[in-house]
Amino acid sequence: MTTTLDKWQRPLRTLRISVTDRCNLRCHYCMPEERYAWLPKPELLDFDEVVRLAGLFCDLGVRRIRLTGGEPLLRRDLPVLIGMLKRHTSAEEVSLTTNGLLLERFAAELREAGLDRVTVSIDTLQPDRFEALSRRDQLSSTLAGIRAAREAGFEGLKLDTVAMKGINDDELVPLLDYAREAEAEVRFIEYMDVGGATQWDPERVLTRAEILERVVATHGDVEPLPGRGSAPAERFALPSGQTFGIIASTTQPFCGACDRSRLTADGLWLHCLYALDGVDLKTPLRAGESDDALRARLREGWTARADRGAEQRAASPDRQALVPVDRLKRNPHLEMHTRGG
Ligand code: SAM
Ligand code: SF4
Ligand code: SF4
Repeated sequence: MTTTLDKWQRPLRTLRISVTDRCNLRCHYCMPEERYAWLPKPELLDFDEVVRLAGLFCDLGVRRIRLTGGEPLLRRDLPVLIGMLKRHTSAEEVSLTTNGLLLERFAAELREAGLDRVTVSIDTLQPDRFEALSRRDQLSSTLAGIRAAREAGFEGLKLDTVAMKGINDDELVPLLDYAREAEAEVRFIEYMDVGGATQWDPERVLTRAEILERVVATHGDVEPLPGRGSAPAERFALPSGQTFGIIASTTQPFCGACDRSRLTADGLWLHCLYALDGVDLKTPLRAGESDDALRARLREGWTARADRGAEQRAASPDRQALVPVDRLKRNPHLEMHTRGG
């Protein structure tokens, strides 16, 4: 297996591809503004371009591809792209992160196309709260999507919940119960001060320690599970055997083992979720550069990578939102919904 190491000896193993910057929700922690500057449609990579780049990433060691967005299911013919990635790249796993709104419609087709795994983001089980948090009254669609994913045969379903103080921190237990019934594993994510999170406030972060404290108070001691590897989530088992995860990007970053990079829908390669700039791959791709030359660009980019964005943020005094609104408006690549979570 080819391995390309960065400056901290971290291999390139995971590629998150954002297939669109559009979204059908407006989650408060991700897209709180009224208006957004969108990527121009002709700039978006077509499926052949995505698959070619993904294949080259795999040549350098990528094993897992995750499709994200924006809302990836808004990208027309997504199952076709999944089928192409499965057939024409050597990735061992192609997975999807979605808000679930369109999953009921597409679950069976996605499964048939060869999608390996699905993660659904769900922050609350209360319809009013869902609407307040995302500006759309769509909880029932997300729940139907989760059901449909299970019925379509997806196993190892994951549910991602951004846990925020005073917003949904009273729902840890209901979400654990719901996940058990849905045969899924819930992962509680700390609220991150990424681009897009213009309303980020340290007072709203429900920390890993607080999440654990609350779960232990209701369920008894939890057992940490081994084998995390480069995964963002730490996993724990409740006394009942049910498992759950915590993604503590804000208070306990895990940059030391990070093997992830990101490709935006218009072909900008980011070495880190917090990176303020990236490598333009679309221009050389469309200029007809050879596979060898493109691979050389990828190798050069990754071997020079020293990013440890979340760790730097954790060490910064007076921490506040990463990027001011006016700068986001001028550069949509800084947005979380452009780079994918
Ligand atoms: N729209 C899809 C979804 O919501 O699953 C995929 C893209 S979304 C950007 C990917 C993940 O990023 C979601 O699980 C979302 O909760 C997470 N996310 C977005 N903004 C965040 C923030 N400020 N802090 C923590 N997680 C965030
Ligand atoms: Fe919410 Fe995902 Fe859309 Fe962001 S991209 S607003 S997290 S659904
Ligand atoms: Fe990786 Fe950057 Fe996230 Fe750290 S902040 S885990 S280096 S993507």
